[in-house]
Amino acid sequence: MDKFNLSDVLHQTSFYTNKALGQNFISDTNLLNAIVSDAGIEKEDTVVEIGTGAGTLTRIIADNAKKVYSFEVDRNLEKVLNITLSGYENIEVIFKDVLRMKDDALLEIIGDSNFKMLGNLPYYITTPLLLRFIESDFKVDSITIMVQEEVARRLIAKEGTEDYSSITLAVAMWGDATITRKVSRNMFFPAPNVDSAVVTIKRNDSKIEGYDRKKINKLVRSAFAMRRKTLANNLQSGYQITKEEAIARIERAGFDKNIRGEKLSLKDFLMLSEEF
Ligand code: SAM
Repeated sequence: MDKFNLSDVLHQTSFYTNKALGQNFISDTNLLNAIVSDAGIEKEDTVVEIGTGAGTLTRIIADNAKKVYSFEVDRNLEKVLNITLSGYENIEVIFKDVLRMKDDALLEIIGDSNFKMLGNLPYYITTPLLLRFIESDFKVDSITIMVQEEVARRLIAKEGTEDYSSITLAVAMWGDATITRKVSRNMFFPAPNVDSAVVTIKRNDSKIEGYDRKKINKLVRSAFAMRRKTLANNLQSGYQITKEEAIARIERAGFDKNIRGEKLSLKDFLMLSEEF
């Protein structure tokens, strides 16, 4: 199908958006093109899209890539997608809950080649989904996601700020994240209560080269376990060591004994990890 009007198709197929599944669709072609451009999609790319929705973004990705695997949990959208994606040979829609799929099952579908991940995500799956992709062995080259603006700020936060958290560090370990655009809530149908932003994360394997990812993950999670506590207190519980031992290790790594986890950059955590 060439051009279509989203509300006409939804009406024609008697499809009602499901709030619980975070179904806020985008139909503005300029915005959809801009998101695909932010993701740096090229003709030879394989793209994994999370959340097909009405297929509006899927089509634009398909116009610019070799192949799109698009995952959608809601089978009721099939009647909509039969219209909006008709004629596209390089799109495969998989009606599955991507969070419940095992890595093997996912790889069986998408194969062994490198891919770029793209998605306008429902807020409730953002963190688990992101962690799933960055902590897996998938050959993901980049991740471009539309998320609530507040979440976007957390993904790119600097140490010492309120938005800085364990997810910031999980992302920083994996690659280089930037907010590529802000998107008003009015661009969605139906409009949600908050504005959104597009975040692009480019994989950069040099970020923790030579370090054990699992070990750093544990350190970061322990450091952020209780935000109001000092780093020493958090590490004491996380590693079941005495407070004196935690302080000794923090000082040996070159930090003040009263420092809080949120003041440490990724480089600082790498230094501290030498003591754990
Ligand atoms: N990509 C479309 C767009 O930009 O208009 C739809 C975006 S909408 C915000 C998110 C979509 O993700 C919804 O269609 C929803 O049904 C789907 N979804 C929600 N949870 C999912 C899950 N666990 N696995 C796969 N799809 C999911």
